[in-house]
Amino acid sequence: MDSRPTKNAVLPGLETPTPMMAQYLKLKAKADGCMLFYRMGDFFELFFDDAKIAARVLDIALTSRGEHSGAPIPMCGVPVHAAEGYLARLIKAGHRVAIAEQTETPEQAKARGGSKALVARDIIRFVTAGTLTEDSLLDSCASNILVALAEAGGEIGLAATDISTGYFEVTCISAAAIEAELARLGPSEVIIPEGFAGLHHAIERPKADFDSMAGKEALQRHCSADLSCTRTELAAAGGLLAYLEHVGQGKMPFLKAPVRREVQHYLLIDQATRDSLEITRSANGGGRAGSLLAEVDRTITGAGARQLASDLSAPLMDKGAIEARLALVQWFHDAPLLRESTRTALRQLPDIARALGRVVAGRGSPRDLGQIRDGLDGARILRERLGAVSDRPAMLETLLPALDGHGAMVDLLQRALVATPPTETTQGGYVAEGYDAALDALRVAGRDGRAAIAAMEARYRASTGIASLKIRHNGVLGYFVEVPAKNADPLMTAGSGFTHRQTMAGAVRFNSPELHEEALRIGQASGHALAAEAAHLEELTGHVLARRDAIAASADALARIDVASALAERAAEGRWCKAEHTEGPELYIEGGRHPVVENALAKNGERFIANDVQLTENNRLWLVSGPNMGGKSTFLRQNALIVILAQAGSYVPATSARLGLVDRLFSRVGASDNLARGRSTFMVEMVETAAILAQATERSFVILDEVGRGTSTYDGLAIAWAVVEGIHETNRCRCLFATHYHELTRLSETLDALSLHHVRAKEYKGDLILLHEVSEGPADRSYGIAVAKLAGLPPPVLARATQVLEKLEKGRAETGGLAAGLGEMPLFGAALDAAEAKVDAVRESLSGLDIDALSPRQALDLLYELKGLAGGE
Ligand code: ATP
Repeated sequence: MDSRPTKNAVLPGLETPTPMMAQYLKLKAKADGCMLFYRMGDFFELFFDDAKIAARVLDIALTSRGEHSGAPIPMCGVPVHAAEGYLARLIKAGHRVAIAEQTETPEQAKARGGSKALVARDIIRFVTAGTLTEDSLLDSCASNILVALAEAGGEIGLAATDISTGYFEVTCISAAAIEAELARLGPSEVIIPEGFAGLHHAIERPKADFDSMAGKEALQRHCSADLSCTRTELAAAGGLLAYLEHVGQGKMPFLKAPVRREVQHYLLIDQATRDSLEITRSANGGGRAGSLLAEVDRTITGAGARQLASDLSAPLMDKGAIEARLALVQWFHDAPLLRESTRTALRQLPDIARALGRVVAGRGSPRDLGQIRDGLDGARILRERLGAVSDRPAMLETLLPALDGHGAMVDLLQRALVATPPTETTQGGYVAEGYDAALDALRVAGRDGRAAIAAMEARYRASTGIASLKIRHNGVLGYFVEVPAKNADPLMTAGSGFTHRQTMAGAVRFNSPELHEEALRIGQASGHALAAEAAHLEELTGHVLARRDAIAASADALARIDVASALAERAAEGRWCKAEHTEGPELYIEGGRHPVVENALAKNGERFIANDVQLTENNRLWLVSGPNMGGKSTFLRQNALIVILAQAGSYVPATSARLGLVDRLFSRVGASDNLARGRSTFMVEMVETAAILAQATERSFVILDEVGRGTSTYDGLAIAWAVVEGIHETNRCRCLFATHYHELTRLSETLDALSLHHVRAKEYKGDLILLHEVSEGPADRSYGIAVAKLAGLPPPVLARATQVLEKLEKGRAETGGLAAGLGEMPLFGAALDAAEAKVDAVRESLSGLDIDALSPRQALDLLYELKGLAGGE
């Protein structure tokens, strides 16, 4: 949902708004369609429609304030200290929020414009789903991506960033590839220039922002990057940077120099295939649980989890690069002790990348600096440990140097900050003792002062004889003497040395000159101490900022080491194997398994049956038949998942594998509606099949399940038949094609690179036993009724179905079945369709018949004709 509708709602007919409302409306007009959080004291207030929406989404009270055109102005508010949580909920609900802060103190306002002056306010920042850096608003295991698209000369430029870590990439793609790229990135927010067609949920930004020249300048300015980018890439990057400047109101987040991504270096996976294979999100509910990623992920750190998600979303196409990743996984795989000690070390490490993101965005806290310090120190120790092991793979040799080199800065942070610094700075206490002698002296003065006050309290008790006398402190009064009301009288008298300050229910509060002086000393000391700490924080932050690229490189190296050791862990856990990669059009998998199904079965104490596949140039299309629930879809998917894992640089769930590199992976498994986008099941199926036929190359791998099932049997069979032929003859890709149409088995007579396979089942004493074993040859029968029995259809229905089936089979045998050219129809569907067709034909010839107008001869002829239509019975 966009928060645009709120844009105009505040304006109508507000003739003479109060000065505050006038200021609000001015800011609201600047808010660019976002909700406006308007700071008033300790609250952010929302007005008009913003208030109504926020009250509903946040479940907070809707009140009103003043009037507008005779009606009360709806209002609600959230306390500033709890604003983050409320923001998170609004962003999750699809809104964008502009934060208007007070830009001066009330005292400054008074000094400027007299006692009635309104405190100046301005929008200091926009909070949008794609531009978050707050820890509490982000999922530590998932990237938070913002994408900008631009078009020029028939090409699309794409720029993507995760500003919480500084990740930044640019790429140039065709318009047809936009969907696949967005599916890979899973952005939280997409921005496009005004007039860019076809993306519903994107946010439009001024065209002028997407200028390639301005983009180039901005890149040089913000990430000192001078790239050989194409014009469209620069335009997209320009749009992205302009948007970031806008949402940060001039404050730029952390951006590394952009990686230029060449689409052809990656395995191409379209949206439908991603959805059907459930790579990073499961189909039901779309969450991480149940996905391949969740099944594989054994990473320790948030950065590792994010890297793994990105690797699985974009498997590689470069054999050398895959093998480099695999070599590191193998290194950890073959050395369990080293793996364990590495993982133990990683367990101690904070999320440096995100801490750095916050520091660069100007929202860093002492805790962030502490995390960077501890993370980098851990990285150095890890480097020493890994560097001491022999036979290090090449990739590790490039990662290790990135882990070190921060010695002086880490040393400084270790000396300067306490062990666990706070996120808040208001109370101070984050700079370590011994770092700054002057600060220590101020703290001693504060401490001495507090000791002096304790001594004063004891003295006053003795001199007044009031044992319950206390010296207390609060934010309003500062230090004061408090006695119970019944003891107050002697202190009230002149010459007691005490002056009255406040009478409470049951207690009376006093001051004394001595206390006043001591309190002043403490106040000054702590004020100076706070200022000194703030100055140190600024300086330390400066040191971190100066090294930000090197710190980010360390964070990346740690993430990569985490991913490799985690994949090794997963491989060892599941007895996975390292695949051999080749450039040939082959796919050999021995003992392949589906990791998600295997795990689900294991939870019930059941065993997964491993299966082989051998696709070669001369046997590249397997037609897989067999009973429902026999395991066809599982078999198809597991092989596609193995390709993804392997090309992402992981071991695979199999006993051995030799895999020719796949350039594009397509999966059309199971029917899915896309009613929201106005497409029926069958339409979706055909659109996806069309995409496969148009795009699959000789290096592609395609899995297709029951193409043609969503329409009538004849049409479906005809389409499936033609699709198999097309894939075999034209695309010539590796393909597993599962089907219930036994007629398709006849294609093996004409298509020489097609072979027949089936998942085995047998019937034992009337019960169906599914063996989940893939064997050569066609299935002997379809077992539909046996599966229905497994599913618990009532016995009378099963008996009747068996009867009908026998009858239909007999009928088919007599009528010769489906047109001779295509062979036989499947048992159920075809015969039922045929029976229906007969009834239709008879009905049609009877309707509109004028019986009275028939001669006896014509009536007799008609009877013969009807008998013919009904199949001669
Ligand atoms: P349909 O034709 O009805 O779509 P299918 O043949 O595609 O069925 P699957 O959906 O792949 O069958 O598998 C059905 C169930 O069988 C799975 O959920 C799983 O529990 C089990 N199964 C599949 N493959 C195996 C296997 N190799 N080993 C053990 N169990 C399996």
